[in-house]
Amino acid sequence: MSIICPNCNSSDIKFELALTDYFLSQEEFSLYTCNDCKISFTHPFPAETELGKYYASEKYLSHDDGKKGLIPFLYRQIKNINISTKYSQVTKALKPGKLLDYGCGIGDFLNYAKQNGWMVEGVEPNSSAREMASQKLDTQVLDVNQLRNFPDAHFDLITLFHVLEHVYSFNKLLPELLRILKPDGRLVIALPNKDSFDARYYKQFWAGWDVPRHLWHFNPESISLLGQNFQLQKLSQYPMWWDAFYVSLLSEQYKKRSLALLRAFVMGLLSNFKALFNSQYSSLVYVFKKNLNN
Ligand SMILES: [Zn+2]
Repeated sequence: MSIICPNCNSSDIKFELALTDYFLSQEEFSLYTCNDCKISFTHPFPAETELGKYYASEKYLSHDDGKKGLIPFLYRQIKNINISTKYSQVTKALKPGKLLDYGCGIGDFLNYAKQNGWMVEGVEPNSSAREMASQKLDTQVLDVNQLRNFPDAHFDLITLFHVLEHVYSFNKLLPELLRILKPDGRLVIALPNKDSFDARYYKQFWAGWDVPRHLWHFNPESISLLGQNFQLQKLSQYPMWWDAFYVSLLSEQYKKRSLALLRAFVMGLLSNFKALFNSQYSSLVYVFKKNLNN
C-alpha cells in the first residue's frame, strides 16, 4: 500500500530519515515530508488508540521538581527563565484577560500568568498532570473533550506550547480553538523546528523528532501554509533560545557520547548563533491573530 500524507492525503511525499524512539519504546519509524502541505509526518502513523502506550512513562511528566544533581538543577533554572521569557513574548501589547493553555502539563505557565493577573484555564490529556495542575492553580484543569463547553469568542489568548506536534487531528482541534477565541484574540503555537541547525546536525538523534509522540514535524514554511489554511495572520515569531540547549543535551544522551553537557552547551550556542542569520531556531513561537479581512 502506498503511503499518503495523513494531513492532506497527498501521495506526493518524500522519505527523509529513519528514526528510532530513543526515549521509550526503541521502535523504529520513518520521517516523510509531504510536497503539497509541506508538513512532515511520522510513519507508520500510530492509530489514535495506540498513542497512549507511548506516553506510558513517568519520565514524560516534569516530575523533576525535587531531584538533586547538576542537570536537574540546571533544568529547573532554565525552566523558570523559559516561562518568564515565553510569558513576555506572547503577552506583548496585551492587557491581562482570559487565557487558555491547551496541553498545559503541570500548569507552570498558567500559574505564572495567573500571578500576572490573567484569568486562566487549562486543558491537559494526561490525568496525573491534570491533577497536579488543578492543585497548583486552584481551579479544575479540563480534559480535551471538555473544550466544547466553552462559549464562542471567550478567550483573549490561547497558547499551545509544544502541543500541536502531538495532536492526532489538528484539523479538528484548530477550528474548535478558533471558535472559542475572541475576534481580536491571539493564538500562540510553539513548535520544534525541523530545519534548525541542531536538527540538521543531530539527524536521526535529534530529540526534537521524539517519534511517535510527535506525529507531525513543522518548519516555518509548513506552519505559514497551515496558518493560511485557517485564515490566520502571523503577527510575530520568536526564538525559544533555551530549547537549543535542552534538545541538544537530550540528543547527546541518545548518541551516548561523552561530555554530553559540554557538547550540548556548545551546540546550543552554535544553533542560536546560526539562527541569528536565518531565523531557523531550534524551536519557534508563532503568534497569530484571526484574519478578519477574510
Ligand atoms: Zn500533506
